[in-house]
Amino acid sequence: MNLFAGLEEIVRENEPMAKHTWFRLGGPARYFARPRTEEELRQIARRCHENSVRMYVLGRGSNILVPDAGVSGVVVQMYYKHFGNVSIAGETVRAQAGASLSQLVRRTAQAGLSGMECLVGIPGTAGGAVKINAGGRFGDIGSVIRSVRVMDSSGYEFERQRDDIYFGYRMTNIIAKFILGAEFTLVPDDPERIGRMIREVWVLKKNSQPMNSRNAGCVFKNPRALSAGALIDKVGLKGHHIGGAFVSEKHANFIEARDDATSKDVLQLVEYVRQRVRDRFDVDLEMELDIWQ
Ligand SMILES: Cc1cc2nc3c(=O)[nH]c(=O)nc-3n(C[C@H](O)[C@H](O)[C@H](O)COP(=O)(O)OP(=O)(O)OC[C@H]3O[C@@H](n4cnc5c(N)ncnc54)[C@H](O)[C@@H]3O)c2cc1C
Repeated sequence: MNLFAGLEEIVRENEPMAKHTWFRLGGPARYFARPRTEEELRQIARRCHENSVRMYVLGRGSNILVPDAGVSGVVVQMYYKHFGNVSIAGETVRAQAGASLSQLVRRTAQAGLSGMECLVGIPGTAGGAVKINAGGRFGDIGSVIRSVRVMDSSGYEFERQRDDIYFGYRMTNIIAKFILGAEFTLVPDDPERIGRMIREVWVLKKNSQPMNSRNAGCVFKNPRALSAGALIDKVGLKGHHIGGAFVSEKHANFIEARDDATSKDVLQLVEYVRQRVRDRFDVDLEMELDIWQ
């Protein structure tokens, strides 16, 4: 492992990615790194940059699909044990990239700060959520962000201010490789009211989405003014399966994996669903799920 000489404590070889994704699917990553500090992250980034080795950034793997053959290159996880700090001072909340989103929601609610209730029930890390501007019908994380700290692929660190970031529908214009952390401005509110809102969002999510199965959230983005789930439902694909992957009966925009599923099954099902929706409605469904290649 010459590439990572001196970093053996934090870099593993041929790590099965199925261990690190919500789908519990995916072959080995050639290298898998869990830096403990920003300096270690910088060293990994620089070595990859200088040797033209591809880097993949991993939070909790709740929005990705890794192929059965795995990925060559390095998967760098922003792990909660090393990048999981959350601090609250007045109305300002700071979170490192690996902090769990659910913990962030809980901690801010307990502190009587409103703004994160809309994120309840979304698994994953703060970094993953910022990267795709996670959210739902009640709002998104972008609306409470004040600034985002990032590191580019050559190891250069800088901060981006809210005014300079575009937060779109499940996307941002942040192109730096690593989100290191973010600062949020929340609004003081009655903890009782925040708690009620959290329960309301949670019940809605629990009743409409498969929360306890192997899936990765919504597979497709909603096309303008339409619901991807409704289109898939209308072509009669709820329950349809290819191998061990099937379209959720609870929400047609979710694909669930049974024990015998492979990533190939999911990919084939994704293509089949897209084709059927295209044929029937002349609509091209865009991916929300990040498919690694
Ligand atoms: C049951 C279920 C329900 C869900 N509901 C919702 C929902 O309501 N709304 C919603 O928006 N999403 C939802 N999701 C999808 C997912 O939970 C979110 O997108 C979440 O924000 C992903 O975070 P993660 O840490 O797991 O990211 P990962 O899945 O690990 O990564 C997602 C993407 O972000 C990148 N990334 C991750 N961390 C960083 C970082 N620190 N720096 C740079 N790039 C990074 C990855 O490279 C990848 O491209 C759901 C998923 C599940 C399984």
